[in-house]
Amino acid sequence: MKLKQRWQQRVAERHSQGLLRGHDVNQLSQRGVVNFSSNDYLGLSQATAVKQAFCEGIAQYGSGSGASPLVTGYFPAHRELEAALCDWLNQPRALLFSSGFAANQAALFSLLDKGDVLLQDRLNHASLIEAGLLSNATQWRFRHNDMHDLSRLCQRHSAEMVVTEGVFSMDGDMAPLPDIAKISSEANSVLMVDDAHAIGVVGEQGEGSASQISPDITLVTFGKALGVAGAALVCSEAVYDYLLQFARHYTYSTAMPPAQALAVYQSIRLAQSERWRREKLASLSALFYQHLPEPLRSPYTATPIKPVIMENADQALAVSQQLLSGGFKVSAIRPPTVPTSRLRITLSCDHQPHEVIALCRALDKATEAIC
Ligand SMILES: *Cc1c(COP(=O)(O)O)cnc(C)c1O
Repeated sequence: MKLKQRWQQRVAERHSQGLLRGHDVNQLSQRGVVNFSSNDYLGLSQATAVKQAFCEGIAQYGSGSGASPLVTGYFPAHRELEAALCDWLNQPRALLFSSGFAANQAALFSLLDKGDVLLQDRLNHASLIEAGLLSNATQWRFRHNDMHDLSRLCQRHSAEMVVTEGVFSMDGDMAPLPDIAKISSEANSVLMVDDAHAIGVVGEQGEGSASQISPDITLVTFGKALGVAGAALVCSEAVYDYLLQFARHYTYSTAMPPAQALAVYQSIRLAQSERWRREKLASLSALFYQHLPEPLRSPYTATPIKPVIMENADQALAVSQQLLSGGFKVSAIRPPTVPTSRLRITLSCDHQPHEVIALCRALDKATEAIC
């Protein structure tokens, strides 16, 4: 009874703060609404070749893997996907997970022991921050992209491990990876980069932002620009050997369906070869800045993630509502997900130039009416 009361009270608190969240069944395309809130940056979730690979995979292997990977759940499709990832990111090994959330937990839970020190960028994704808190290590957070703060903490605590995102999910800015690599290598720390929002989008062949520095561990997720779902830790032989023995999220979880592995494999092939997708994103981004009203401008981002900072949660919600009634889905992201409420606009190469221009006009009107 005590527990039930506590749950109800916490939900009621969220409600009274205007921070209650809920599902919104996605019927946007049926309603003719343009979606500016998806992470399907390259439009690959709708690519014919990927859908076909998924279907053919089901015909070949069935719907599921049937077991965890170290029992009988590991198929040639998984091995080929790993090889494609290693080749793409120029790393020796890759280990597949059902989600990025699980992969981040697996890494931080298994690689760190009591007494180890872990440093993370303050704005790292919830999966990383929570994994660090629940891990055996002692966690310190450095100020966002602040190299002085990172150096200071590295020296003070002689950190075993440093973790940053490559492209930050809510701000769309990039980490200064060469500087972080230098500082962490001088401190003899292991470096892990979560490249969830860079993979497919950044780099000549979409190889992400981490490939330029070759960190010890890179998280790649398949549910964002690659348009499917799942994740991999891409790493050295030594990290792989260890994770394979000790990462419980790997050992005790059903392997991803082999058909899904085939779909991701096909998606990687398209992300590598179809450069027009990244080129189109770049031109939509330029168009966005050309038409976004001056007062709404946040710092420029070189990624498809375009935050527009609002004064408070209510304002963010009201603008988001008004945009929706005008035919644009733009999510309001509020605390505790982010420190400052914002609209998180994401561009996709499925968007048309006229849609981006219309969104900017609608933003101008909505903010003028509300803010
Ligand atoms: C989405 C995301 C994850 C989690 O990945 P899933 O595959 O969706 O579980 C991890 N890190 C970052 C930075 C993300 O944006």
